[in-house]
Amino acid sequence: MSESLTLPAGPVGGWPELQPGWVWLCGAGPGDPGLLTLHAVNGLRQADVVIYDALVQEDVLSWAPEAEHIYAGKRGGKPSAKQRDISLRLVELAQEGKRVLRLKGGDPFVFGRGGEEAQTLIQHGVPVRIIPGISAGIGGLAYAGIPVTHRDVNQSVTFVTGHDQSGNTPGSLNWKAIAEGAQVLVIYMGMKHVAQISGALLDAGRPADEPVAVVSQATTPDQKVLETTLGRMVEDIAGSGMEPPAILCIGRSVLMRQVLDWQGLAAGEAPRNLDPLGRGRPAEVS
Ligand code: SAH
Repeated sequence: MSESLTLPAGPVGGWPELQPGWVWLCGAGPGDPGLLTLHAVNGLRQADVVIYDALVQEDVLSWAPEAEHIYAGKRGGKPSAKQRDISLRLVELAQEGKRVLRLKGGDPFVFGRGGEEAQTLIQHGVPVRIIPGISAGIGGLAYAGIPVTHRDVNQSVTFVTGHDQSGNTPGSLNWKAIAEGAQVLVIYMGMKHVAQISGALLDAGRPADEPVAVVSQATTPDQKVLETTLGRMVEDIAGSGMEPPAILCIGRSVLMRQVLDWQGLAAGEAPRNLDPLGRGRPAEVS
């Protein structure tokens, strides 16, 4: 971790100041500290308090050496700080006149309850700034060599959460409609209910041989990638020993990893297939 990283010249008007009594609700990206935004780094440097989640890699806290670091982790199944308590703690800290940086994994507004936290803050009259981050369902897949869109595959992406507030597969979701309408599916928090999810998609007519990728601990040194199919994913995931956090990607974009596994290429592997979508011609020749 570079302690000497200096921010480049700021935007017009200079880098914003994190003022006392403010909360900056900030995305940390999926893991690799290099994926934080410059606004996030700027905020970390000024914060009196950083409240961070389980999915935040703790090494980025070294960018806020003066700040108090408060862990507000939430992990499926384990006892954790309640959402209401976290939101009210943020209000309290801001009202004490602290410069508060709330750091959340990925993007704070993507399956991260950032909207709820920001709403509570605003309801209590606390000024907020929102700093987006790279979401695992986009950046995490990119680290596995999977582009979430590709002209030859999809003109839409469907982001889905694998469980709702009750911890079950979201009953409010119309899986049949998703199965029929989604070109490429990117599923967050899907590991616990992978059997129900794949079952629902297969029942609704998605082909058993549809490509699936599972990317766990994406963008970290412990990143693992499993390539499988909709029909085999349950047993393959069980056999792989992979654990959350993981992103599931269902669709033909997964095939692109055969040519775009850039981390494998950097490690000296040859591309498995230069034309995995079978276009039969070089990519930029029409
Ligand atoms: N706000 C976050 C998502 C929070 S929900 C974002 O935008 O990325 C938590 C889920 O995100 C996890 O269960 C997992 O599905 C996914 N996730 C977050 N970080 C991840 C990572 N490094 N690798 C794989 N999946 C990740």
